[in-house]
Amino acid sequence: MITMIETPDYNYLYALTRAATPLDGDCGLLCGSVCCRPDRKNSLGVYLFPGEEALFNGDGDWYTREYHDPAEHGFPGNWSDPVHFIKCHAPCPREARPLACRFFPLAPHLLTDGTLLLIHETARLPYRCPLIEKKVPLRGDFTNTVALAWQILLKDPRIRRLVEEDSREREKMLRGIPRILWSSAI
Ligand code: SF4
Ligand code: SF4
Repeated sequence: MITMIETPDYNYLYALTRAATPLDGDCGLLCGSVCCRPDRKNSLGVYLFPGEEALFNGDGDWYTREYHDPAEHGFPGNWSDPVHFIKCHAPCPREARPLACRFFPLAPHLLTDGTLLLIHETARLPYRCPLIEKKVPLRGDFTNTVALAWQILLKDPRIRRLVEEDSREREKMLRGIPRILWSSAI
């Protein structure tokens, strides 16, 4: 029997996270918007979630798109080829930024019992985010909105598997669980 996967409602998720912002002011002023600028190797970019690409037409005037093989880029076996990777060469129109940008610097972490945690992103980045480095307190409504968006996204088995795999890898790498900023168990 073939089970159809229902793609998350990205229009709803974009509306939900439209105003999400980690600080009262523009955090880009703390770092010169380093996470939005190409790095020396021009490797910086943002992955789209499965189906999110429907909101992006071809190449835009502020980004170019690459098509990545999921198997070569660490995605689980239930992700279809290609995975869409957006590289910005100009500031985006804020309302068009991908979900991954709306969530940063928070990342999801799933415990083996299914509890969802939000933590600071632990992936190796080619820049230093002051929000992570200095553990700057984030707006509560930002954290709650990101948590709600993740609870919706995790209903998609492809996204859930990615987060589960990343979580087990992270626990191995850090030999434990990172500092918890939000938990579905509370
Ligand atoms: S690196 Fe961190 S502080 Fe700088 S713009 Fe990105 S999220 Fe904001
Ligand atoms: S989409 Fe916007 S917020 Fe995301 S990296 Fe590009 S310029 Fe920055």
